[in-house]
Amino acid sequence: MLTLPKSLKVDRNTKAESKLVKRVKDWLERDSKDRKGIHASDLLDPRKAYYDKTNPQPMTARMVGLFFVGKVLHSFLLSALLGEKGTNWKSDGGSTIDKELGISYSPDWKKLWKGVNIPGEFKTNRSKYEQSTSDLKSYLEQELIYQVGEQSEDGRLITLMLNLPAPRGEGWGTYPQFRCYDVSVDKSGLKEYRAQLIKFRKLLERALKTKKKADINKLPLCRDYKCGRSQCPHYNDCKPEGRFGLRKWDK
Ligand code: SF4
Repeated sequence: MLTLPKSLKVDRNTKAESKLVKRVKDWLERDSKDRKGIHASDLLDPRKAYYDKTNPQPMTARMVGLFFVGKVLHSFLLSALLGEKGTNWKSDGGSTIDKELGISYSPDWKKLWKGVNIPGEFKTNRSKYEQSTSDLKSYLEQELIYQVGEQSEDGRLITLMLNLPAPRGEGWGTYPQFRCYDVSVDKSGLKEYRAQLIKFRKLLERALKTKKKADINKLPLCRDYKCGRSQCPHYNDCKPEGRFGLRKWDK
């Protein structure tokens, strides 16, 4: 071990941190500017998608950090998965428009198998415990949109668990670990899910067209962890029914 000089000083530079966050935010925003129309991800929480589209808010430092890590790891994982030399900075497998669904969608990759494109999705996760199917719900909601789009009963989901405790016998602490899942659904499940997507897309389109509160409130409430004054910048405009005015959500 080397001995550091006694005169060494290390001062945290918060000004430089703010500048860096701004740079990364600008870079992330430049990269997402050309997204038009309704995208698969808008149907996961369509009410938030409505407010994000009609009243876009600047990214917070938290969003910048999370999106940056997700984006970079996406490119690395896909490059490794697809056998690229070096890094391919495209962070998905390209966008497809499904006219009947009325949305565009971009699975991370597709693999042709028996004449069907099997779509796959990659997610990073910071939980410290092994994920159950219910923990994977929001990922599965998204993966199933791709399976509907590709009319594939099969799909793949990969998670990189960044903080999972090391398995017994592999030392102390945590290390990032991959989990791979085969996802399958039957034809009627795909059909029902497609009908649900079309319904949500139509509700979102209607709200975007009329901008009337009655139409906006027909959009389902977003999932719990995205909602609340401290989580959602649209809380005061949205006034989510059954939540707004309650301490749990207002704080
Ligand atoms: S306040 Fe809640 S329900 Fe309303 S848009 Fe935000 S997350 Fe969705």
